[in-house]
Amino acid sequence: MHLPGRDGPSREVGTIYGLGRNFAAHAAEMRATTEPVVFIMPRSALLPGGGRVRLPEGSTELHHEVELVLALGRGGANLGPEAADAAIESLALGLDLTARDLQAEAKKKGAPWARSKGFAGAAPISPLQDATAFRGRWGEIDLRCTVEGTLRQQATCAEMIHDPPAVVALLSRWFLLEPGDLIFTGTPAGVGPIRPGQRATAVSRALGEELRVEVT
Ligand code: MN
Repeated sequence: MHLPGRDGPSREVGTIYGLGRNFAAHAAEMRATTEPVVFIMPRSALLPGGGRVRLPEGSTELHHEVELVLALGRGGANLGPEAADAAIESLALGLDLTARDLQAEAKKKGAPWARSKGFAGAAPISPLQDATAFRGRWGEIDLRCTVEGTLRQQATCAEMIHDPPAVVALLSRWFLLEPGDLIFTGTPAGVGPIRPGQRATAVSRALGEELRVEVT
């Protein structure tokens, strides 16, 4: 699977990581600790440019999670702060769509989140754009999500517990990162359902991106 670049070449996608609990207010609304949690999504979860998403088998409750996505140009393990920063090649706006009912069931059983996070269309994503302009100014990136015109989520990346380079450094302690890997960096507070027939729109003014999905 290739992701288009907005101003440049497309990028072959490697592993897709998702970080959970990177905004304290969201961790609180999920009654979770702020200890980060990581999950992995199959490439077939990606939905470049957004579009229609079907409720996955066994779920009646799909939640929106607007997120900043990092695309890595370099990999490695145990990256220091500078190497982690340099590894971030491009950025995208993403939605980490979550079958909240399946996830709650999995949490109860201590089972993996694969079904709730990895179904086809679970990860709508905008085109990639060069990260250079945002280095050292990650906090200026805004994230917003509306459902049928009602504002549900609004935050900036200044509210992240781990900023983008820190996220890369953290993941590189646990995984061998590779060029082309994508990282969904966690969602702010305000997650909630998108019901069948409803549309959700994710927006980032700083990135100049808008991503629409319709649940069917
Ligand atoms: Mn998420």
